[in-house]
Amino acid sequence: MCIIETKQLNKFFHSNQILKNINLKIKKNETVSIIGPSGSGKSTLLRCLNLLETPSSGEIWFDGVEITARGVNIKKIRQKMGMVFQNFNLFENKTIVKNITMAPIALKKINKHEATKNALNLLEKVGIANKANCMPSQISGGQKQRVAIVRALAMDPKVILFDEPTSALDPEMVNGVLKIMKNLAETGLTMVCVTHEMNFARRLSNRVVFMDGGAIVEQGPPDQIFENPKSERLKKFLLNLTIKLN
Ligand code: ADP
Ligand code: MG
Repeated sequence: MCIIETKQLNKFFHSNQILKNINLKIKKNETVSIIGPSGSGKSTLLRCLNLLETPSSGEIWFDGVEITARGVNIKKIRQKMGMVFQNFNLFENKTIVKNITMAPIALKKINKHEATKNALNLLEKVGIANKANCMPSQISGGQKQRVAIVRALAMDPKVILFDEPTSALDPEMVNGVLKIMKNLAETGLTMVCVTHEMNFARRLSNRVVFMDGGAIVEQGPPDQIFENPKSERLKKFLLNLTIKLN
């Protein structure tokens, strides 16, 4: 069953068409990586999925509901669709535990004691329970991203959207965060991840979507995308990655 489906999704910024007829299906429990050159519309697509951007035309369906329809309570929808950003987006003036418990307390009406217990449990799972009472400025980028992931998990979402979650991290912090994402994927959480980490895309996702120029150019299982690319644009993209690595 599809948890997310876009139908003929288009997005314009002024007269620039940024997304072109995107038909994307995300199945329950899938981990989907979105790859592609900078400026190809990956972030815009992700932001459209939870309506942080308003699509210009087309439909988005989430968990059986057309969320682009009039009168949909998008705040309710977003509670079930977590998002993790490149730059963490933590509240700098609030402790780690507050960052995590605010939304469950305010939006899900969970009492403070329960929310705190849940937050500490989740922090324990990602190895930073001892940072619960720190301010964001007192922890590393890798730790901040773990907090951001925990903050999303604390809402018990059906899907988490990740936008380049490891791009702002020091290299030695990347693997720790990827490991956590791997564990999440294994629990069956549905994840959509815009990423430059080709190892993640290749080894941890069920499906890879390649975007270029605002369109989905090619998609398929990781082996097919990386070993048997069909379109010239994907071949070129992969070749450029190899050259950069050498
Ligand atoms: P990617 O994440 O693949 O690098 P983006 O989705 O961020 O690409 O951007 C795709 C294109 O849309 C870029 O050309 C970018 O300049 C443009 N764009 C993104 N957000 C806006 C905006 N808020 N206003 C105008 N143009 C935008
Ligand atoms: Mg982006």
